[in-house]
Amino acid sequence: MSTTRNIREYTLPELKEYFESIGDKKFRAIQTYEWLWKKNARHFDEMSNLSLELRKKLAEDFTLQAITVDVTQTSSDGTLKSRFKTHDGHLLEGVIITKKKRNTACVSSQIGCSLSCSFCATGLMDRKRNLDFDEIYDQVALLNEQSEKIYGTGLTNIVYMGMGEPLLNYKNVLKSIERITASDSMAMSPKRITVSTAGVAKMIRQLGDDKVRFNLALSLHAATDEKRNKIMAINETNNIAALVDALNYFYDQTKNDITLEYVLLKGENDSLEDAEELVKVYRKIPTHLVNVIEYNSVFGIPFEKSDEDSTQVFTDYLVKHKVNVRVRRSRGKDIDAACGQLANKG
Ligand code: SAH
Repeated sequence: MSTTRNIREYTLPELKEYFESIGDKKFRAIQTYEWLWKKNARHFDEMSNLSLELRKKLAEDFTLQAITVDVTQTSSDGTLKSRFKTHDGHLLEGVIITKKKRNTACVSSQIGCSLSCSFCATGLMDRKRNLDFDEIYDQVALLNEQSEKIYGTGLTNIVYMGMGEPLLNYKNVLKSIERITASDSMAMSPKRITVSTAGVAKMIRQLGDDKVRFNLALSLHAATDEKRNKIMAINETNNIAALVDALNYFYDQTKNDITLEYVLLKGENDSLEDAEELVKVYRKIPTHLVNVIEYNSVFGIPFEKSDEDSTQVFTDYLVKHKVNVRVRRSRGKDIDAACGQLANKG
């Protein structure tokens, strides 16, 4: 048996084979699997119904690369933000936003990001590496524990809106969702999971081909190529027409919800003409909702949030044109809840 394999890459039948190969009983595999996926053990030492000797043997034969909570901050509005540390010392972050009966976890998919959207804090960092599927899963498991402890109920929703571009870490993101939704693990409904993308047309189509069951959000933020190119460089290779096509394909294949996200940036994308362009794009996409998001200012980035009047005029225009719109106020302002801000403080 190789000494460096990640134990969480093993299926239950594979673990059974392993225990047989070392002359132990197959039911040890069930116990171990439960420790990994039901009790979310982070060390072999925690597996208290296995003998000390067996725990030592597992630690020799496998790795268990769990992430740990480094710091947690609580906002005056109840938002909870945690900085996590990976086994190799990288920092990443996850947030719980609580509202009425919803506890929504926001998780990261990469350390840093390769995309450099000009308004985004994570865009200031280089992409260091992709997160493994189990590291993404760990964020959800740890945030779920925090949610139970602090709010008295577990997570109800998960959004992939933390650091990184989920569709550029496709395999790990899908595998993490497989684990989060698996009946032998957290058993969460995929309908309560949303993956947010800056817009990688090819991978949006791939989601359609893979007939995924979770929802998708597109960070549109500008409704003409000219404006979108300026704030999101990815638009130069994945323009609005390509994204419209890909989203229609995704919807035809899956019938899952699509949300458009639109961060209002003062003087950049918040005029009445911008709202008109947004309505045009909205009509071409089988989307059920536009989230108009209040910009969270980032130290060192010159963008500002749109003022109240412009926000009102913008959203009124959308409502008048029968766009299903929701305004999302910034949460956790006092704890730097914008993407990448906490991890950036290293
Ligand atoms: N890469 C993915 C997911 C991560 S960002 C994506 O682009 O969708 C999650 C959302 O937060 C995106 O819509 C992103 O544009 C937005 N965002 C980034 N920085 C922000 C800020 N400072 N204030 C408000 N929203 C921000």
